[in-house]
Amino acid sequence: MHELSIIQSILDIIEEYAEEYRFSKVKSLKISFGRLSCIEPQVLEFTFEIQSSGTKAEGASLEFDIKPIIIHCFSCEKDVELEQYAAECPQCKGSEVLLAGGTEEIQLLEIDVD
Ligand SMILES: [Zn+2]
Repeated sequence: MHELSIIQSILDIIEEYAEEYRFSKVKSLKISFGRLSCIEPQVLEFTFEIQSSGTKAEGASLEFDIKPIIIHCFSCEKDVELEQYAAECPQCKGSEVLLAGGTEEIQLLEIDVD
């Protein structure tokens, strides 16, 4: 399960920060990723709860910033946000489109500590 390794690397980062900045408890975390990155927020939350037990991040709340799917259309020169990926511009039905957002890798944006 790839959520496991994601959470593990986040916990590793937290441990490093905890040593460097000397905090003892994490209150909340903000994580961002693209909507097309195959990450299930619920699975991530569940995995985090289990894996963070006994670490400085135990009991911390997770906040997600999920980046929308955006395609750039070369016919109307616009960026359009989509609910689901399609290789067609919903406005002009043009097919000369480029995926411009939604595949962002997971990133730890903020850590709120005590
Ligand atoms: Zn278009």
